[in-house]
Amino acid sequence: MDFDFLQPTEIDQACNLLKDYKEKAKIISGGTDFMIDLHKNDLSPEIEYIIDVSNLNELNYIKEDGDKIVIGAGTTHNEIANNPIINKWAPVLAKATNSIGSPQIRNRGTLAGNIVTASPAADSVPALLVLNATVKIKSFSTTREIPLEDFFINPYQSKINEDELIVEISFKKPPIKCKSGFKKLTRRKAVDKARLNIAILALQKNNGEVEMLRIAPGSVTPTPERFVDTENILINKKPTKELIKKAAEQVSSTMIEKSGYRWSTEYKKPVIQTMARRILTQVLEVE
Ligand SMILES: Cc1cc2nc3c(=O)[nH]c(=O)nc-3n(C[C@H](O)[C@H](O)[C@H](O)COP(=O)(O)OP(=O)(O)OC[C@H]3O[C@@H](n4cnc5c(N)ncnc54)[C@H](O)[C@@H]3O)c2cc1C
Repeated sequence: MDFDFLQPTEIDQACNLLKDYKEKAKIISGGTDFMIDLHKNDLSPEIEYIIDVSNLNELNYIKEDGDKIVIGAGTTHNEIANNPIINKWAPVLAKATNSIGSPQIRNRGTLAGNIVTASPAADSVPALLVLNATVKIKSFSTTREIPLEDFFINPYQSKINEDELIVEISFKKPPIKCKSGFKKLTRRKAVDKARLNIAILALQKNNGEVEMLRIAPGSVTPTPERFVDTENILINKKPTKELIKKAAEQVSSTMIEKSGYRWSTEYKKPVIQTMARRILTQVLEVE
């Protein structure tokens, strides 16, 4: 491919380049997905300009902002996994980002890149879904926020226009007493995308009843989403082994409902069920 490589130094400059070049331009951040597309010739032939946003310091931060945690879109997985604010308020995201690829990939790959690629197997996404995260998107003339759960259209297709840049990902601080878990299953022990993953965030009342439960399995539906029907099995109830088993079975039933019975279902059905049961047992105190 023959293209011009542009390196804006400010967000506004990047947005103006996107406005000027539209479908002829493509953003690159860490490049860990982009370079693979480039090598496979999967990029649109219309692309003439690559806009490198990896040097935009304005996109690199993790902050507490009142009752919210805000993360700059260009923050790398390693920065997130090792950040004290994230480890205090959202250990589920720390675990998820720490499971991505290898140290090299985590040092380059960014949160926005993981979200925009919209892979059903993305590891940060289930964690961000249980945190009810929101994505802030900017163009030269507008800024909009969209809940992450509404961001995905199809596998590898998200609701971002060609002249837009993700600038921030944010979520409300979960109650400090929340417990969470993230598990990922891969074919190999390292540098492998998730065969299955799942994130769970839970809060129990003093009397043991489940006050809040959010469950997001990955790699089981075309686009990542929370399994609300499973959550409802346990919400306002005191968890028992039987209820947890029922909820875990519901995870695989919902997977089949949403994705149909595929060649991989024989394997995924019992395995995602077991992963859900194990994390639910870890995060919930059972009578
Ligand atoms: C060997 C290897 C192992 C991997 N393992 C995992 C894994 O275990 N789990 C996992 O989830 N992923 C994995 N990945 C995928 C990849 O590392 C992640 O998706 C990463 O987060 C992508 O971020 P990036 O900054 O490198 O994105 P890039 O490759 O730079 O960009 C990816 C896409 O996002 C767009 N983009 C980037 N930033 C922005 C922005 N701010 N606004 C709008 N659009 C933007 C780009 O235009 C492009 O379409 C792996 C990749 C490799 C090569």
